[in-house]
Amino acid sequence: ISWTAEDEAIIATNTDATECKRCAVELGYWKDDYISYFVKHVDRKAPEINRGYYARVRAMEMFIHQFLERCDTKCQIINLGCGFDTLYWRLRDTTQAVGNFIELDFPSVTAKKGHIIKRNKQLLEKICNEDGEVVIREGDLHSDGYHLLGCDLRCLGEVRRKLAVGGVSDTAPTLVLAECVLVYLRPDAAAALLRHLAATFQRCALIVYEQCNLGDKFGEVMLRNLNARGCALAGERLCREPSAQAERMLTLGFDKARAWDMETVWRALPEDDRARVESLEMLDERELLLQLNTHYALTVATRGDVFADMDLNA
Ligand code: SAM
Repeated sequence: ISWTAEDEAIIATNTDATECKRCAVELGYWKDDYISYFVKHVDRKAPEINRGYYARVRAMEMFIHQFLERCDTKCQIINLGCGFDTLYWRLRDTTQAVGNFIELDFPSVTAKKGHIIKRNKQLLEKICNEDGEVVIREGDLHSDGYHLLGCDLRCLGEVRRKLAVGGVSDTAPTLVLAECVLVYLRPDAAAALLRHLAATFQRCALIVYEQCNLGDKFGEVMLRNLNARGCALAGERLCREPSAQAERMLTLGFDKARAWDMETVWRALPEDDRARVESLEMLDERELLLQLNTHYALTVATRGDVFADMDLNA
């Protein structure tokens, strides 16, 4: 397989996200004992970037926990465009509720992630089978409850094949995560992928974090940046408001969907959390953070009654 320069630019966004997360973790924004295995050195990022990442990670976590609370049996998590996300390890330390965790990304990303996992005992020991083994097959990493699989999300056939290889269940409660990922897919490819997932899992929740409201001047700059990183084609969709993202989910087969811009999400976080985070670094330009926050959205789409009440203030 050969990747285009555009794909390379997309793959590099993972390094960027991982560096930003490590920086914020080092400054005390949230706790992550595993991120430092995935990226070695980071330069300090601007306070508004750190705070933006905090809201992103905190919001994803909040809905992940709402999902877990509503599962009556062991569930599965599918992490689309997982990059070097450490969620699997963070959850392993706090809950037994996840029966299978499937991560998908380009093979070059999953190969690197797999390599880092194998090299670090602290990562490896949490994914080993009872006999202490992980299996590498066709470049993918497998163990009892964790599968790291290389595939191109733009190719639905490949996604389906890989999910099957990862032991996906059609009946288990399923959480699908798409954190800054769908924006790199053409709208028709993203739609086909989501439509397939919504049709397959009768009880599921999808959490999407991505840009929104890009139709204004500030958004124009963000779009130009995104285009430079290989996602010229998702532009039109990203110009819309969060409510339009939610409506789109209903047309793709989810029963219920809601979406908020990140300023709304930020304001809904517990007062104590916000106060703690605000005391970590001086932020001269609150205006800039507000602009960033209003140009990112969190969308939660669900199928099945048990997940219907997942909400910002649930
Ligand atoms: N979800 C992770 C996070 O938030 O930390 C990584 C986000 S990173 C901005 C985007 C990820 O999506 C990259 O790891 C990239 O390789 C992956 N990605 C984008 N397009 C993809 C595709 N067509 N197939 C597989 N992975 C893709």
